Amino acid sequence: MLWLYDTRSRQLEPVVSPGTRVVRVYTCGPTVYRYAHVGNLRSYLLPDLIRRVLERHRVGTVLCQNITDVGHLVDDDEIDASGEDKVLQQARREGRSALEIARFYEDAFRRDTAALNLRPPEYTPRATETIDLMIEMIEGLIEKGHAYALDDGSVYFDARSFPTYGEISGNRLDALKPAHRLEAVDPRKRFHADWALWKGSDRDMTWETPWGRGFPGWHIECSAMSLRFLGEHIDVHTGGKDLRFPHHEDERAQSNASVGHDVVKHWVHGEHLLFDGRKMAKSTGNVVLLSDVEAAGLDPLAVRLSLLEHRYRQQMNLTWDTLQAADRTLRRWRQRVAEWAESPSAPIAEDYRDRAQTALDDDLDTPTTLRVLRELERDESVPPGSRFETFLYLDNVLGLDLSIDIGKPRVAPVLPPGAAELLEARAQAREAKDWPASDRLRDELAALGVKVTDTPEGQTWS
Ligand code: AMP
Ligand code: ZN
Repeated sequence: MLWLYDTRSRQLEPVVSPGTRVVRVYTCGPTVYRYAHVGNLRSYLLPDLIRRVLERHRVGTVLCQNITDVGHLVDDDEIDASGEDKVLQQARREGRSALEIARFYEDAFRRDTAALNLRPPEYTPRATETIDLMIEMIEGLIEKGHAYALDDGSVYFDARSFPTYGEISGNRLDALKPAHRLEAVDPRKRFHADWALWKGSDRDMTWETPWGRGFPGWHIECSAMSLRFLGEHIDVHTGGKDLRFPHHEDERAQSNASVGHDVVKHWVHGEHLLFDGRKMAKSTGNVVLLSDVEAAGLDPLAVRLSLLEHRYRQQMNLTWDTLQAADRTLRRWRQRVAEWAESPSAPIAEDYRDRAQTALDDDLDTPTTLRVLRELERDESVPPGSRFETFLYLDNVLGLDLSIDIGKPRVAPVLPPGAAELLEARAQAREAKDWPASDRLRDELAALGVKVTDTPEGQTWS
């Protein structure tokens, strides 16, 4: 069974308890104000691998990955972030509305993740559409004495009311220094490390609350959305390692204080991706996008293969050379799989499969899995039909489309935002025999590029 390194307990732990059929996973989703770079995408590969490995064990997963379209401020590594909202800042720069920016980059994110064969999460709630949940949760925290409102409409979490603060990152409250910009600490806060759950403001993208008009803090968004969509017991929570503090510490404090127990069982963090030796980050200008990789004539899945060459919690350095090498490997493997497909069928090579599976179960040791595949590729004692079966079996986890040359479409189609809701509404309209509504919804779907066909089994789309 799958074991993962738990950041909080600082040891490997089994992710599935005996008898469990479904594992609930939450991942902090993108802030949709720019294109995701391949460093960001490395962090989203982690939950995809977890769910694919668990599926091999016949354990299902439910993944929730939020969309942050408001509330993520520029200084997000400070315990109490300040500065402009990242989405609003970008809207100002591009001369578009905040919502236009957010939807545009959300669409781009969906395209990138689909091109990397990251399976769509079951839930992708948007912060702007779950404000009620946050208000409800903040009200509860005030009632329980974990939060306090100021007269400008801001609400702060009382950090000292949560004694186990800091268990994930090791940043205990008593050791935390006030912000390096001391003058930035609001004197009305009870303690310098208290952070805003809600910021009083009447700027764009604000909402009315019992305390006044304002917008949510970034951390409360994840608490509210994870509790609503996955419930009070979440098996695995993932993110890039920079999210350990303050984001995940704050999220843990808010969620646990709301429900009275530990909500997340395992916190799992991915290491950073470097490019040409430096951390890939927008702030350093050291960014490669998936579109850059495609523009260079490489398969986007060469990025996926390059990332798999390192375990998720190993720092890794990507270069154009490694991407080109991965692209060549992909092409070679697809060609070989297509050749082996012509041979008589033969059973899977169990020893190779088991070695690869064991490596994956061991904290997602993908480099070893790839070494096993390379060895199998060269092992002429294994019948081609067996090599074919084994490559395909393992490709279910690796997600490299190794059977592309034998007729499988490259990328599974993904519904554009809003289309799932329209399809659902249309199914209901048809059940109620409301044909005008059904036709109108079909036109709306067509406008989104989704063609609906009615069959005796119900509607299908392409
Ligand atoms: P953001 O959209 O900025 O909130 O970041 C999305 C995700 O990407 C977070 O989980 C970050 O931890 C992660 N991330 C940012 N930079 C890198 C990097 N260079 N390598 C890996 N993950 C990263
Ligand atoms: Zn989060």
